[in-house]
Amino acid sequence: MTTTHYDTPVLIAGGGPVGMSLALDLNHMGTACLVAEQDAGTALVLLAKAGTLNERTMEYCRRWGLVDKVAEVFPPDLARDTVYCTALDGHVLGRSVIPSANKRGTPMVGPEMLRRCPQHLFDPILANAAIASEHATVRYGLRFDSFTQDADGVTSLLTDTVTGEQVTVRSQYLVGCDGAGSQVRKTLGVEFELITQMDFSLSAMIKFDDAELYKYIPECERMMFIGAEGTWANMTAVDGHGLWRFTVVGNEEALDPATFDINPIVRRALGDTGIQYEVLRLVPWRRAQMLAKSYALGRVVLAGDTVHTTSPTGGHGVNTGIGDATDASWMLSALVAGWGGQGLLDAYTAERRPVGWRNFGNSTQNYKVWVGAGMTNVVAEGPKGDAARKNIGNMLTVGLHQEWFSQGIGMGYRYEGSPIIVPDGTPEPADEPSNYQPTARPGHRAPHAWLADGRSLLDLFGKGFVLLNFGAAVADVQALTAAAAAAGVPLTVEAIDQPEIAGQYGQVLVLVRPDGQVAWRAATAPADAKHLFDVVRGATA
Ligand SMILES: Cc1cc2nc3c(=O)[nH]c(=O)nc-3n(C[C@H](O)[C@H](O)[C@H](O)COP(=O)(O)OP(=O)(O)OC[C@H]3O[C@@H](n4cnc5c(N)ncnc54)[C@H](O)[C@@H]3O)c2cc1C
Repeated sequence: MTTTHYDTPVLIAGGGPVGMSLALDLNHMGTACLVAEQDAGTALVLLAKAGTLNERTMEYCRRWGLVDKVAEVFPPDLARDTVYCTALDGHVLGRSVIPSANKRGTPMVGPEMLRRCPQHLFDPILANAAIASEHATVRYGLRFDSFTQDADGVTSLLTDTVTGEQVTVRSQYLVGCDGAGSQVRKTLGVEFELITQMDFSLSAMIKFDDAELYKYIPECERMMFIGAEGTWANMTAVDGHGLWRFTVVGNEEALDPATFDINPIVRRALGDTGIQYEVLRLVPWRRAQMLAKSYALGRVVLAGDTVHTTSPTGGHGVNTGIGDATDASWMLSALVAGWGGQGLLDAYTAERRPVGWRNFGNSTQNYKVWVGAGMTNVVAEGPKGDAARKNIGNMLTVGLHQEWFSQGIGMGYRYEGSPIIVPDGTPEPADEPSNYQPTARPGHRAPHAWLADGRSLLDLFGKGFVLLNFGAAVADVQALTAAAAAAGVPLTVEAIDQPEIAGQYGQVLVLVRPDGQVAWRAATAPADAKHLFDVVRGATA
């Protein structure tokens, strides 16, 4: 049997959305990588998966030049309401009004708005960009099998799934982006902890004539079907062009796609409307909340569903994974380039694991509202039923507000207690799921503002550290630039004389990392600038 060998600074096992995002961000920093994806291509089957890209993910898409491609996928004028009902022609209990992209517009707090973009169309956008990029190489039909690591690097064994040929890869770092069943994580010996199995679900991808559906319930992206037993099915517009995801809950045996007939449940949802439809695909999946104990050990890093799985009630799965990728990306680039310290990958776990915990906890809260008790009288006749429907409608509309409006989850995560963030003594602000309050406090996302030349302030970030210097007078930053140069840290200084932005950032000097999170801020340069750069690059003990 022949064996092929590759050398690469970073091997990424798994070319799903997180693996490809990591490749794109590494490419942005000029770091070469190899993506090994076991499938023969991207999105070869219709995936009933992610559909919502939050504002932070869209900011990274902006960095990679992909916003226009994402924006053209979902009709921008389609209302995104969720309607709670007993059937398409049954009782409507309530409606969560959620604006279309056109009505939502670009938020005050960021340069990009949340977008709908189903994963079977988003994944190819990422993959094609990675394939076309300068520094990333994508290899399909290459299955990761195992690795060994030593002091200088990682040797991985892979298999060409077409020829059966053995492939070895020597890399400085290996990143497991190979999903919830990750072979990289298992080989590393990192178990999932905090396993909460919520239910077993099955999603059908169904083609409808949208105009027919909207005759009964207009202007909506999602219908949740409620009965005495709680929410028994839901249906979400996938692409805004007649493709819908219809999800039911049950158990593994009952929902076996080989034997399960979804038609009676779809017909229950459609009531007596007689609407025709075509079932394209049935996809079973497990709704579980799981978190890996560690996100990195030695030279092996884990990201995305490899380290966290969540109920999709909130749409945080892929967004959280892309957050992992953009944190790991600059750290790996720093390590490969030689200016990253040995503490960086421990800091990666310290930063990203609490975000995984926070985000899946929020999703589970939403799920509990979906299946909440007290729906017994929802189909009762007369005043008793009317009162129950009103109460249930109110309960769902209020209880699920944070599911449909979660800007705080998307943009308000913070790296409190990270060993590579320098606290400034200010108190931690509240972390509210629906409400994002911009702050330049160290550990938080550096706030967006429009610069005088029309760029977003965020457009300055992504290739190295950036020292923002606010005010009319240029501060003495020579000690800082000298310390950065001595440590090999790429640093640019940006003087910004816009008082409204200075007020928002709260200090004259603000140091921002390549991932766009604030590392340090102060009125003047510190006495020991070398120590500051040692901390933020993970080079202190
Ligand atoms: C019904 C549903 C709805 C969802 N809705 C949302 C939503 O609205 N918003 C959101 O953010 N998230 C949502 N999610 C979650 C989202 O789909 C996942 O979080 C996301 O797919 C994770 O991406 P990933 O790249 O980490 O893993 P995956 O998508 O699982 O990709 C892993 C990749 O690794 C490859 N691979 C696996 N093993 C190997 C190997 N040994 N060698 C090489 N390659 C390998 C696989 O082929 C795959 O391409 C939803 C999920 C479900 C089930």
